[in-house]
Amino acid sequence: MKYLSTRGGEQHLSFEKVLFSGYAKDGGLYMPESIPSLSNEELAKWSSYSYSKLVFAIARKFIDEEEIPTPELNDIINSSLKRFRIPEVVRVEKMNGGLNIVELFHGTTMAFKDLALSVVGGLLDYYLNKNKRHITILIGTSGDTGSAAIEGVKGRKGIDIIVLLPNGRCTKIQELQMTTVLADNVHVYKVEGTSDDLDEPIKQCFSDSGFVSAHNLISINSINWGRIMVQLAHYFFTYYQLCSKVGSPMQIIVPTGAAGNITAGCIAQKMGLPITLIAAVNTNDIVFRTILSGDFSVKEDVAQTLASAMDIQNPYNVERLLYIGANGNVKRINELMHAFEQEGQVSIPDDILSNIKQIVVESLSVSDEDIVAIMKRVYHEQKYILCPHTATAVFYHYQRKSDIPRGFIATASPAKFPDAVQRAGIEPVTDGVDHLQDLPTRFMWMREGGNWYAMLRGKIEEITQNR
Ligand SMILES: *Cc1c(COP(=O)(O)O)cnc(C)c1O
Repeated sequence: MKYLSTRGGEQHLSFEKVLFSGYAKDGGLYMPESIPSLSNEELAKWSSYSYSKLVFAIARKFIDEEEIPTPELNDIINSSLKRFRIPEVVRVEKMNGGLNIVELFHGTTMAFKDLALSVVGGLLDYYLNKNKRHITILIGTSGDTGSAAIEGVKGRKGIDIIVLLPNGRCTKIQELQMTTVLADNVHVYKVEGTSDDLDEPIKQCFSDSGFVSAHNLISINSINWGRIMVQLAHYFFTYYQLCSKVGSPMQIIVPTGAAGNITAGCIAQKMGLPITLIAAVNTNDIVFRTILSGDFSVKEDVAQTLASAMDIQNPYNVERLLYIGANGNVKRINELMHAFEQEGQVSIPDDILSNIKQIVVESLSVSDEDIVAIMKRVYHEQKYILCPHTATAVFYHYQRKSDIPRGFIATASPAKFPDAVQRAGIEPVTDGVDHLQDLPTRFMWMREGGNWYAMLRGKIEEITQNR
């Protein structure tokens, strides 16, 4: 399998090349040159696979044997997923009335990002060992990405990771999940500013291409193809858990922010999995408006909501959805994305939109009040506690009845979001997070008024010197 940019400027790239890259040089995102379609026999055979085996089977379709031989690929995946808190990795809770909650949060940091970042950490490590190379990963986080990335790479020899977190704007648990990791290759900064503020010094570092290549600087945010690829697995897994007959249709409802998760679902559908998807968002509703009427436009500043990991105004992965909807016509993607980048808005042509809506059939935007109401209702009716992100998806359960099975993706454990749980009048969940309070912490400050860019550059240079 080779890869290309959604804007056509780069073609025929190896998996290794795209794994170690963020955006393509032309500003596009990487996609496989073709999406493999599964035969009915394969689709049936995969139904008996464990979660890890599914990840392997999918990865094998997208990474050539010459790039990573089967025994090594198997090892990478199995050892990365061994650290999950339950052996089956993903668990589906089937409740009354067809409310099936697909729990993707049993990784170390209790959010679904662990699923992809653990394996991506293993894949990076494989190539770095093989090529005797070292990289420094640099990311800003609003909460879940930072901790999952740290868990994915902590202690790996060829990698250092620098994480910037906005002081006081993550939940206490999210913060502790980052600051209590004491591995030598992990460097955490608390920044006195917002997520947007801390993006500035990071952008400045990445815009100096000489500096980036001198220090092997990379980002592994949600545009990374490796993350999308691994996320295909939970769509297959969910399908097989909930559909009694392979080939019958089902629907999966996905809490959506930067749209990396739902993009993976679209690719799974393209491979032949008979699913349709619903995109649930909070009041940051750009994806909702795009799906509803083709209005792909930035309306206002990011609103802070209870589902904070979905507080996003630029859902990067929509470009991949457009690429799928345009049947890979890179010229049209160029036109659309340039218009979007220049004007902050573009109207999606009907044919592209209707192709996307064959897969993402509907979207909903859910307010904080409704998030709290749903958390309460599910707690009282089912004795089950949802995280606020998951609540946006479950809202749909009460809006629309369905004749076909449905799975509601649970992207995080409620234990990570005590404020939302408290607002719903539910006793706090401390399962799996209690011990964090007592652990020693380590982090550095980026104080208001400091020269953050200079600090960051200095840190990166120091890391390179020491490796
Ligand atoms: C990252 C995240 C999301 C959004 O996922 P995308 O792939 O960005 O759409 C939703 N819920 C939680 C808890 C997350 O951490």
